[in-house]
Amino acid sequence: MHIIQVALPIPKRQLFDYLCQSADLMPGCRVWVGFGPRKLVGIVLGYTDHSEHFDKLKSVSEIIDTTPVLDSSLLSICGWLAKYYHHPIGEVLHTALPVALRKGESDQPKPIDYIQLVDKNSADTLTALGRAKKQIELYGMLSEGPISLSAIRQHFSDAVINALQNKGLAEKCSKEPQFLPVKWPTQAIFDKPKANVEQALAISTITGKLDQYGCYLLDGVTGSGKTEVYLQSIEEVLIQKKQILILVPEIGLTPQTVTRFEQRFGLEVGILHSNLTDNERLMVWQKCRRGELAMVIGTRSAIFTPMKSPGMIIVDEEHDASYKQQDGLRYHARDLAVVRAKELNIPLVLGSATPCLETLNNAISLKYHHLSLSQRAGAATMAKQNVLDITNQPLQSGLAQGMIKRIEQHLKAGSQVMLFVNRRGYAPALLCHYCGHIEQCQRCDKPYTVHKSLNKMQCHHCGGARPIPNQCKVCGHQEMVTQGVGTEQLEATLNERFPQYSTIRIDSDSVRGKSKLHTVLEEINQCKHQLLIGTQILSKGHHFPHVTLVVILDADGALFSADYRAPEHLAQLITQLSGRAGRAEKQGEMWLQSHQPGHPLLQDLIHNGYGHFARYALLERKQAQLPPYLFHALFRAEATRAQDAFDFLSEVASLVRHSQLKIIGPIPAIMEKRQGRFRMQLLMQCFNRTLLNQIIAQHIQTIENMPLARKARWSLDVDPQDFM
Ligand code: ADP
Ligand code: ZN
Repeated sequence: MHIIQVALPIPKRQLFDYLCQSADLMPGCRVWVGFGPRKLVGIVLGYTDHSEHFDKLKSVSEIIDTTPVLDSSLLSICGWLAKYYHHPIGEVLHTALPVALRKGESDQPKPIDYIQLVDKNSADTLTALGRAKKQIELYGMLSEGPISLSAIRQHFSDAVINALQNKGLAEKCSKEPQFLPVKWPTQAIFDKPKANVEQALAISTITGKLDQYGCYLLDGVTGSGKTEVYLQSIEEVLIQKKQILILVPEIGLTPQTVTRFEQRFGLEVGILHSNLTDNERLMVWQKCRRGELAMVIGTRSAIFTPMKSPGMIIVDEEHDASYKQQDGLRYHARDLAVVRAKELNIPLVLGSATPCLETLNNAISLKYHHLSLSQRAGAATMAKQNVLDITNQPLQSGLAQGMIKRIEQHLKAGSQVMLFVNRRGYAPALLCHYCGHIEQCQRCDKPYTVHKSLNKMQCHHCGGARPIPNQCKVCGHQEMVTQGVGTEQLEATLNERFPQYSTIRIDSDSVRGKSKLHTVLEEINQCKHQLLIGTQILSKGHHFPHVTLVVILDADGALFSADYRAPEHLAQLITQLSGRAGRAEKQGEMWLQSHQPGHPLLQDLIHNGYGHFARYALLERKQAQLPPYLFHALFRAEATRAQDAFDFLSEVASLVRHSQLKIIGPIPAIMEKRQGRFRMQLLMQCFNRTLLNQIIAQHIQTIENMPLARKARWSLDVDPQDFM
């Protein structure tokens, strides 16, 4: 018998020893082991000669893999993650695996369910379908060939799929996973736009050193042709028969990007999105690992995709907040991409019109190559940006009269208008007009949001909901009024004011469900709607070629936020929203309504652009001694008794004390209470990242074992992105 060391998916920092008959399990193989009463999937990390608990060692229950599911490069990435984020290695390794493999399933994908047409040329088809629009649409798609069930489910409900089957027109079939070699291009593609000067410089810089690590910040205004730079750089990588991994914030928002990649090279692009089944995800993972996919595109966790012949990593919209995981292993996929590209010795391209300050700083200090695209590609021009002073102006659902007129002008000219408001629902508060009492969620101490369409008030922090009261529970008067504006209200107002135009709301309430977002985006591009009302979703990468006016209702809150990153995020939001306008040959304009029209941040941004704003913001960060000029690690704790969280963090504070460490707290989190738990935090700041890391490493085990740690739910966030 031999002793293997196994990492288990539990919040413990050590490895566990088990007896094993095999002497040649490689690191990265999975085994089933007994752990207390449970059976767990463990990852073998090595062998050892002796174990302290030799007499009590259990045997491995079952060996799952004979070849590793995590290659040595990914294992080393996981080791880095565990050290950098001070996270238990077993949990890190599980995060890196597709769900099917975490469950102990075989690493060979099972057959995949498809839908296909029974008889393509049936004459009575159209009669059988009658006027069922969705069914006709699906039938049309299927006539091109079978489509996987989960892909169909992204656009159609089960009712539609079943209807086609019940009418005998379509049937389910299952296909064995097919593994086919990639048809790598051997020469340059002819049919592509000619790169402009800045693009050409970017492409040649990136492709000049494909055989080594290098990080390139592609800093290009919206519509400047960043994607075109990706495409032409990728081309060179493909000719070398190497793979490309592309990260995007959200795939649902960029279906046209995927199509563009596929069409340019005539190659299948592996897509990792949240609607895949575990088996389909495993399929993409396995194909990429075997080198049977040239390109993979996915959201945050796709950074863990194994590659047989890695050639390049691209992180699109690198500033996007979704790259940071906010629970469990709180990693930042962009930062991990840097580590991974270094480990694989391949180039990394970070693209954005609004690079985050950390990235920009790395570019300015020459750690990254800074590639700029300062002009829009082709004939399109940038939208003109303006601030509208709304102090002391009558507002109708948050809109100034002059703005309503302007909207009308654009609509009459046949264009689309996009309106951004940062709250979904009807209104962000409900109060009594007589006594001022505000309806609050008891568990979070925050006002309820009114949702008229649901006839409910809902807490956006815990999801708790109640019926809308028609009477004040404090004074009994029946005059409850809403305060503030949400998307729902704005939509209602615009519907009333412009009944001849179609409005569409795009927020997480209205585009819930699998197919909605895709359908809505298509309808917008077909100009079925003229007034587009939405939240943050609108700012994320989607092209709206017919929008000529973008209105931001009110973003003043961010100017006074307690979060030092709020101005940066506001500037990114404004710039990205404004970038949605005037994409095609139509000149666009953006109007930001504000009670602080003279605010230096807004003025700088509007007149000098994001790049100028960002450099100034960096200067401010330097003077205020904030990241990226110093490093943060944040302990968070929450408990039903605030004192428990406070006591725990106080003890942590006294433990980690160090002359070169500045400690702030324990103080309440910005969001002091959530779901009935009080939330506190302890911020550690240090000018030396390595030292900060060492101090935490030295104490984390003690902290974990502290009796007080059991009274609070706690976590550690290295490089925290917010203080909520
Ligand atoms: P970004 O990714 O920066 O938003 P895209 O690459 O999507 O920009 O380019 C915006 C538009 O400009 C697209 O329609 C694209 O086809 C077009 N485009 C990009 N580069 C060129 C070029 N060199 N010549 C002509 N059109 C271009
Ligand atoms: Zn709540």
